[in-house]
Amino acid sequence: MLLRHTPNEPSEREVLSINPAKTCQPIGAMYASLGIHGCLPQSHGSQGCCAYHRSMLTRHYKEPVMAGTSSFTEGASVFGGQANLVQAINNIFSLYDPEIIAVHTTCLSETIGDDIPAFVHQAEQKGFIPEGKKVIHANTPSFAGSHVTGYANMVKAMVQYLAEPSEEKGEYVNIVSGFIEPADMAEVKRIAGQMGVESILLPDTSGVLNTPQTGTHEMFPAGGVTIEELKKTGGAKKSLALGVTAAAPAADALQAKYSVPSMVLDLPIGIKATDRFVSALAETAGIDVPDIVTYERGQLVDVITDMEQYFYGKRVGLVGDPDQLVALTEFLVTLGMVPAYVVTGTPGKKFEKRIAELTEGLPTKVKAGGDLFLLHQWIKEEPVDLIIGNTYAKYIARDEDIPLIRHGFPIVDRIGHILFPTVGYKGGMRLVEKILDAILDRKDRDSSEESFELVM
Ligand code: SF4
Repeated sequence: MLLRHTPNEPSEREVLSINPAKTCQPIGAMYASLGIHGCLPQSHGSQGCCAYHRSMLTRHYKEPVMAGTSSFTEGASVFGGQANLVQAINNIFSLYDPEIIAVHTTCLSETIGDDIPAFVHQAEQKGFIPEGKKVIHANTPSFAGSHVTGYANMVKAMVQYLAEPSEEKGEYVNIVSGFIEPADMAEVKRIAGQMGVESILLPDTSGVLNTPQTGTHEMFPAGGVTIEELKKTGGAKKSLALGVTAAAPAADALQAKYSVPSMVLDLPIGIKATDRFVSALAETAGIDVPDIVTYERGQLVDVITDMEQYFYGKRVGLVGDPDQLVALTEFLVTLGMVPAYVVTGTPGKKFEKRIAELTEGLPTKVKAGGDLFLLHQWIKEEPVDLIIGNTYAKYIARDEDIPLIRHGFPIVDRIGHILFPTVGYKGGMRLVEKILDAILDRKDRDSSEESFELVM
């Protein structure tokens, strides 16, 4: 009983978070930066922030995550980090030779009010930015938002800094990725490739944070969206943003600046959301959906139809990131399950409205800006059959003896998320398998000898 002190009765809390269901903005910004080929993220703040962000990403992706830090000490904390950042830019290009440095701020540098564009301009004037190399930045104070908004801010910065205008629109589509796994990004590209749709995925951490063991460390792996591709995003036929919170700001920025039409979709998790993504790709490219994609969809429909009786009416407690939870909630409703509790740490009332729409007629409680403590209290009041959440939810799962499916960020005690996607029809099959395994393993465990079944 690790959380034995959690009381059953929830009480109103406005300024206190207990066991947060989010982490800080720079982690998302750092993750997004790694999705640019040849990018070294730069954390503008103290060493402790950078060490924490790198270690969380390293634990989740099981890959060594590289990033620089402006290494604030007392002087920079009082007078600002201009000298530190200018020096850092010089050191990084001299020692590591990245194609691009993506600077994100931290609580400390934001509290001081450091003017990053002015600092970068000074580094440029001093000749510290080699010809053809780039430095971009995003403001990511952690006293606002979450890792998801930090990710969104950095992706938006990519197009604001690097996209270029084009007189004629190309025949390719921008796919702005939400905060999903490298395996998911690879799956999004696979689906677009299967359909013969030319696309630019931004950012793209596949081939960066899920690379094979070769015995040789590569500072900048082969994957990632290139600077040239990012320049071309200003001339795309359309931008498909996968996620309202994490991806829409970049697509909207491209629309505002370069008139690239923006279409905001949900993450393609589950049948309906994947259908919408596939249809949007097909419509944008002016093609029919190929048979191979329809075949995979049919496989997912088949497995759901075969096992529907085990899903029906099962109550689920969900905790995680808003875009993930919206898509997961819709999928669970499609399966006949009841998303009983839906909690995200990321603030935003639109999220609560969307979940309420998706769960109309169901006994669902939803909270944006919530925490794991609240989820635990709700579960104590009325239990669920299943929890879906990140590694931190394992404490609730253990205390309440409820099966847990790990999904989201961070997952630091399992490895499947690195390798296998949950987006698209294939990803839907994996999710269904995981949900079924959890439900049926529990049924096997709890069945009496008379009702213990061989075939299910
Ligand atoms: S919350 Fe702020 S101070 Fe703490 S690690 Fe994140 S950026 Fe650094």
